[in-house]
Amino acid sequence: MLDVARIRADFPLLGQPENGRRLVYLDNAATTQKPQAVLDAVAEYYRTTNANVHRGAYDLAIRATEAYETARAKVAAFVNAWAPEGVVFTRGTTEAINLVAGAYGRANVRAGDSVVVTAMDHHSNLVPWQLLCQEKGATLRMVEITEDGRIDLSDFGRALERRPKIVAFPYVSNALGTVNPVAQLAKLAHAGGAVVVVDGAQSTPHLKVDVRAIECDFYALSGHKMLGPMGSGALVAKPELLEAMPPYHGGGEMISRVWDDHSTYNKIPHKFEAGTPNVEAAVGLAAAIAYLERVGPERIADHERALAAAAIDKLVQIEGVTVYGPRDHRAGVVSFTYGDIHPHDIATILDQDGICIRAGHHCAQPLMRRLNVAATARASFYLYNGLDEVDALVGSLVKAGALFGYVPA
Ligand code: PLP
Repeated sequence: MLDVARIRADFPLLGQPENGRRLVYLDNAATTQKPQAVLDAVAEYYRTTNANVHRGAYDLAIRATEAYETARAKVAAFVNAWAPEGVVFTRGTTEAINLVAGAYGRANVRAGDSVVVTAMDHHSNLVPWQLLCQEKGATLRMVEITEDGRIDLSDFGRALERRPKIVAFPYVSNALGTVNPVAQLAKLAHAGGAVVVVDGAQSTPHLKVDVRAIECDFYALSGHKMLGPMGSGALVAKPELLEAMPPYHGGGEMISRVWDDHSTYNKIPHKFEAGTPNVEAAVGLAAAIAYLERVGPERIADHERALAAAAIDKLVQIEGVTVYGPRDHRAGVVSFTYGDIHPHDIATILDQDGICIRAGHHCAQPLMRRLNVAATARASFYLYNGLDEVDALVGSLVKAGALFGYVPA
């Protein structure tokens, strides 16, 4: 296990009590807290380096551009991207997937084609494809999941028989914690002639990611879920695909020459970064990555797996509690229900003990329908959580159960 006390001391917000209690922050799949190193990097950027990037002829603007491009290289190295110019900064995973659907999808998907997603996809990796298919008259095919919350590989195979243009799936499910066999899925999808889009919102913060080993084509990530600032994120793509794609947004920065009625475009990645970028977010994300590298992505993944396993072991012993998702090949996300207690009531009661968990459909309504629930409660762990917080979660949950007339086993 990681030295949680030491790590926790790096996160100012975690030192702040909630409802008079020590804060137990277990909503990391939604967003993570930020270490002092990230706060300092952002403040230092504004104190010493701020100017608009790429267009300044003066030294300050050159330094700002360097900070921004160094951050891009940092993101590229962290996920073993094909090249730094294959990293397009976005506001997060949602914007990255919309970019792929809006630029690659619009140019390549036609009436009668199909696009494949899975029943465990977050709305971010579903609605952009719905919009594309509606616009183009294409078919959206949703691959089913198994009873224990994995992608159903036979149904995946059936979906590929139609030779879809695009196949999109999450690396890690935000609602089930399932870690999908992404390299295997990408290989199958490529053999079926598709381009592969991986939603990396929940994998990049928690696993050692190598996009070239996965052999996907596009990979989306959110910086705010990996200790970075809100509004930071990236699309990581094969450069040749970005080169061939039309632009997504129009405006400054993304052009080369502009005439009255048409324009030529900048080289990648700038072709996809119209307007003034969020330099602060990129700089903060680079600092977040440096922090994660110091701790070690593999050690973080082991730590979270141990916390999730401990939580599941304890939760399943409480009569009336159902834990969703597989027992193995999972990350530190634990979704559960407790009898007929509404997950929102669970979250509200836990909040009285200073414990923050998520309750709701987790932006995965098709998945909730398949689980036959309207909502679940979800605890999601990160590197600053400890086993004592698993105990706090379980203790508070038992108290909640008692309030609703459930007697703990
Ligand atoms: N995909 C998954 C699996 C997620 O968990 C999330 C956020 O919860 C997203 C996509 C969307 O990320 P963002 O809101 O940072 O764009």
